[in-house]
Amino acid sequence: MTFGARALIRLDALKHNLSVIRKSCPGAKIMAVVKANAYGHGMVPVAQSIPDVDSFAVARMAEAIQLRQAGVETPIVLLAGVFNDDELQQAITNNFEIVVHCEEQIGLLDAAQGGAATVWLKFDTGMNRLGFNPDDAENLITRLRNCNSVAELRLMSHLASADDRGNAATGAQLERINELVEGFDGAVSIANSAGALAWPALTGDVWIRPGLLLFGLSPFDDQTGGELGLLPVMQFEARLIAVKPLAKGALVGYRGRYEAPADSTIGIISAGYGDGYTRHFKTGTPVLVNGRKVPLIGNVSMDMIAVDLGPDAADQVGDVATLWGDGLPIEEVAPWADAIPYDLVCGVMNREASEIVDQG
Ligand SMILES: *Cc1c(COP(=O)(O)O)cnc(C)c1O
Repeated sequence: MTFGARALIRLDALKHNLSVIRKSCPGAKIMAVVKANAYGHGMVPVAQSIPDVDSFAVARMAEAIQLRQAGVETPIVLLAGVFNDDELQQAITNNFEIVVHCEEQIGLLDAAQGGAATVWLKFDTGMNRLGFNPDDAENLITRLRNCNSVAELRLMSHLASADDRGNAATGAQLERINELVEGFDGAVSIANSAGALAWPALTGDVWIRPGLLLFGLSPFDDQTGGELGLLPVMQFEARLIAVKPLAKGALVGYRGRYEAPADSTIGIISAGYGDGYTRHFKTGTPVLVNGRKVPLIGNVSMDMIAVDLGPDAADQVGDVATLWGDGLPIEEVAPWADAIPYDLVCGVMNREASEIVDQG
């Protein structure tokens, strides 16, 4: 491997996580969410390794096209839908399913000449992001069922706080959703990762939309992915590129933000915010070196960080440092940057080499 930072992507772990999801939601169809470059894991190789999911969901047209161009034939859902007639035609030609969440998008469907797409009609049941008011459901369903550009009509909503198990808002959302679903004869999709695990499944033709779980990450504050039976898909690692004595009183890094309280050994590791190891990581953030958790010291640089290896360190230049992954759950690291696993993994892979490993 190189001396720079790299993200090792374990496709065998991805397949394992998919089987865990299937077991915890028996009967549900799976719309695997691979937006944002599959949460930083590499959208194309991720999708190619699990082609047997029921569909993939992406946020942007460009992502959907990229999947088709890579030979992915699984149905693809555009989570925000289309915004002009060109995009609608592209969706119909490529057989993309579209979310319809606003009046403007119904206008596009009404005006379209020829062809039809599967439509996920989205309702806002309390998140106040995308979707129609459920009070208008009957009228909207009738309109879309009578629209020639709609091949099949399905129903969708999104939970705002499913990751917070005690949150009463989810109960209120589910109540509205149940009312919607009762009057609807067709496929329905409500739950993201947290919803799929924490809230009782709806019965019938139900689709779940896991993202986080696929990648081995927990949506809950009080549980790691490992505790949910998942395996981390991303192993983010780098190497020691310098090991030196550190004298008591020495100031480490830009602005000298860390002062050594005692003689020790400093290790410099080849990962920084340019690689996706955010500058928000504070002194004390654990880094795994030769089986020990050692603390980050001083400010994160663009390409490097410093750690305190301890006074008796025997670590050497070239030794591997794990920033998160096996042995160091990302859920343990994230709070040190006031981050959540989502934003950490999404920040990786825009610069450095990644290596796809399939041991399954
Ligand atoms: C991103 C997204 C998901 C996946 O969420 P996870 O918490 O990663 O499982 C599901 N549904 C919608 C609408 C999304 O935008």
